[in-house]
Amino acid sequence: MDRGRARPASADEWASVAAVTRYICETCGVQFTESDGPPSACPICEDARQYVPVGGQRWTTLEDLSAGHDVDVREDSGLTGLAATPAFAIGQRALLVPHEGRNVMWDCQSLINDDAVAAVSSAGGLSAIAISHPHYYSTMVEWAHAFDCPVYLHADDARWVMRDDPALEFWDGEEKELGEGLTLLRLGGHFAGGTVLHVDRGTGLLLSGDIVQVIPDRNHVSFMYSYPNLIPLAEPEVRRIADKLRPYRFERILGAWWGTLVPEYGDVVVQRSAQRYIRALNGEYPDTTGGDVSRA
Ligand SMILES: [Zn+2]
Repeated sequence: MDRGRARPASADEWASVAAVTRYICETCGVQFTESDGPPSACPICEDARQYVPVGGQRWTTLEDLSAGHDVDVREDSGLTGLAATPAFAIGQRALLVPHEGRNVMWDCQSLINDDAVAAVSSAGGLSAIAISHPHYYSTMVEWAHAFDCPVYLHADDARWVMRDDPALEFWDGEEKELGEGLTLLRLGGHFAGGTVLHVDRGTGLLLSGDIVQVIPDRNHVSFMYSYPNLIPLAEPEVRRIADKLRPYRFERILGAWWGTLVPEYGDVVVQRSAQRYIRALNGEYPDTTGGDVSRA
């Protein structure tokens, strides 16, 4: 798919269009700027927070991805989610958060085709895209062009952008208000610019990507520097994340994949989880899951 590109006028122009492709890394799902052959490497996957698969890096294109996958659009914990099916690359799903009569797309995923654009359009379209960290940059520029909207990325992660574009808006500092109760919070941790989206509506909601990781024990969350390679986050970072979130109220936390949810007491869960994590880093392991959470 080449949105916005004029139809080539001559055989030579057709040849030059055919020779230029925006490759997508099959392991992390990130689309690269156009090139006349597959990139020599994926810097995101060569970083210790991802991995290059046995057998080496593989590449695809939007056309091939769309040929082998459908877009799955469905409700997830009260929001509309979308992702490729069967799952592709890291497998995260994006979420639509109503905003200014349209939606903020929280995090992003690689599969964009006519069906995906139609589904998001029928949900109201996009006012903006905001992404937690580089593992979910995916095809953000394609999405931004399809909906003529900005992509908010934290400036501290700018070096991980593989396809630059005027639609990318880098923000500095610790928080960015989007209006209507939506606030981007830079927590750092997993990535220097690691960001979550706090939704101050109703009982409050935190969309955490995997900056704050939702885990099977719904009474806790976790924090890591590298998830696939199981490299823990240092104590000062965990402490800083917990301190940063302390003023915010949120019952629910939605993680990066379908169904990942802390259903209640989310703000309390973050604080008790940070304490548990720091104790474990220092050799004091929990005996039990610690039981259910309450505000008492
Ligand atoms: Zn990659």
